[in-house]
Amino acid sequence: MALRRRTSYIAIMPDTPPAVIRPLRLALRRGFAGRCPACGEAKLFGRFLKPVPRCPACGQDWSHHRADDLPAYLVILILGHLMVPVVVEVNRSFEPGLVVQMILWPLAAAVLALAMLQPVKGAVIGLQWARRMHGFG
Ligand SMILES: [Zn+2]
Repeated sequence: MALRRRTSYIAIMPDTPPAVIRPLRLALRRGFAGRCPACGEAKLFGRFLKPVPRCPACGQDWSHHRADDLPAYLVILILGHLMVPVVVEVNRSFEPGLVVQMILWPLAAAVLALAMLQPVKGAVIGLQWARRMHGFG
């Protein structure tokens, strides 16, 4: 509760420098889009899941992020909630054969997981930056 009050206090101060204010939604959105959560000008990732060490536009150091297993956990959580109803409905409506299902569902899960992993990791890094976790303070 004390943290929430302090964040609101910082956000409404008219003379607070922009570098002090870190809006969570904007950071999440920028990170999800693969852009720097701090400025939104440059790419966050140098490779598939490897963030650039430092933003070339604003100079923010991204070596402090500690996303660890959270992006993979969130992808599994989201993907499970998306795929289970689809699998149940497809099975109920079309009754596909076992071989079709053995190929279709693992392939769909792998493609969707790979597509979701980088955006979710970007959002997690944005969350850590916006909430000053780890070395982002
Ligand atoms: Zn930047």
